[in-house]
Amino acid sequence: MGTDCLFCRIVAGEIPATIVRETATTLAFRDIGPKAPVHVLVIPKEHYADVATLAQGDPTLAGELLATAAVVAEEEGLTADGFRLMFNTGEHGGQEVFHVHAHLLGGAPLGPMIC
Ligand code: C5P
Repeated sequence: MGTDCLFCRIVAGEIPATIVRETATTLAFRDIGPKAPVHVLVIPKEHYADVATLAQGDPTLAGELLATAAVVAEEEGLTADGFRLMFNTGEHGGQEVFHVHAHLLGGAPLGPMIC
């Protein structure tokens, strides 16, 4: 996707981000507007617009993204008490950045899902 995509530019190092984990295929960095004590975004380095496109286009990469999220959850100390992992998808899902990203949220009770 390249220069038009914010998260592709983070992958390229053109926009700063606080990176907490990097693998050959994925990147995890802190959300600039955290909604919980821990709020990390986990993305594939390769551009896919949303989770449906990723899951259908490259299920292996989708699994690698989930594996990275699980490792970050462990490293951030979220495993014992639990966490939320979610993908906003499309306009009705509230997606604002169209490079697929998992929100990893935790560090406090998050309560029920609200719309
Ligand atoms: O799921 P959605 O697309 O709405 O989330 C985008 C997220 O990307 C927001 O939580 C926003 O704070 C985050 N963001 C970021 N770094 C940027 C731009 C946006 O962490 N440079």
